[in-house]
Amino acid sequence: MTELVVISGKGGTGKTSLVGSLAALAENKVMVDCDVDAADLHLILQNKTLRTTQFIGGKQASIVEERCTNCGICQEYCRFDAIKFKANKSGNERYWIDPHACDGCGVCVRHCPEQAIEFKEVVSGEWYVSDTPYGSLVHARLGLAQANSGKMVSLLRQQARLLADKMGLGTILVDGPPGVGCPVIASITGAGYVLIVTEPSMSAMHDMERLLQLTVHFRIPTGICINKASINPEMTSRIEEFAEKHDVKIIGRIPFDPAVTAAQLAGTSVIEHLDTGVSKDIKDLWLNLKEELNRKPGQSQFIDLKIRNK
Ligand code: SF4
Ligand code: SF4
Repeated sequence: MTELVVISGKGGTGKTSLVGSLAALAENKVMVDCDVDAADLHLILQNKTLRTTQFIGGKQASIVEERCTNCGICQEYCRFDAIKFKANKSGNERYWIDPHACDGCGVCVRHCPEQAIEFKEVVSGEWYVSDTPYGSLVHARLGLAQANSGKMVSLLRQQARLLADKMGLGTILVDGPPGVGCPVIASITGAGYVLIVTEPSMSAMHDMERLLQLTVHFRIPTGICINKASINPEMTSRIEEFAEKHDVKIIGRIPFDPAVTAAQLAGTSVIEHLDTGVSKDIKDLWLNLKEELNRKPGQSQFIDLKIRNK
């Protein structure tokens, strides 16, 4: 099974729009939206939700006032400064746990001499299996202020693999989360190929370099797509020079085209929206990608490791 993950670092590079087009082009695949904080791939793919499951992100501690003797031992052990001491609604000074600060480590529970701390599972969001005109989509919605996106991303990838296995499908197409932190690491670890979508701007190029450091570290074959390549030819050349110097393949160059926004507004992929111009560039990109994905193990191109020490 091949897992292709599309990431971009910063938002607004057109990553999800590109994944929508790849969804229309790729066959025999399951799609996953790993941008669990702001999932929107399902909007392009016109999904119909088939199954909804609660996501238990972890546990949270809370003090049962009736059992608590106010000894303060729990506060001494909490490394997250989540246990406070102040007046409750009745005006009595009590220890209490700030649910937003509690990391769910459980240390206070183990040290409370009165067993006065409850430790309950917390529902942090929902994940879904949807049907779309292009195949099955696994996606999710994380609750507000929930910090379990890495765990949720791992769960979605695992569910997509199970689904692909069950349906006898050979490819998983992942719309990765933004940034370069824990959710991105969770989305690329063990993947077969990573496509970095960048655009010709300094900040996007900087993000691209940081993402490459990650994929080099995890030894994942990686290619680059320069989106909106025509808006700044000088920066596009700089990205190309960088890629050549570090032996990273440019898988595709997609010019800026208002048709992309028009397709988004129409709630569809560019491929479905029109058959010329930018649509052809995306089809060429897909052909290049397929070549990379079909490389046998050992033939995959790994990036020059010197990039890590740049
Ligand atoms: S350790 Fe237990 S008894 Fe002591 S303040 Fe904390 S919750 Fe209350
Ligand atoms: S579970 Fe951990 S983080 Fe939460 S209050 Fe207890 S010690 Fe602090």
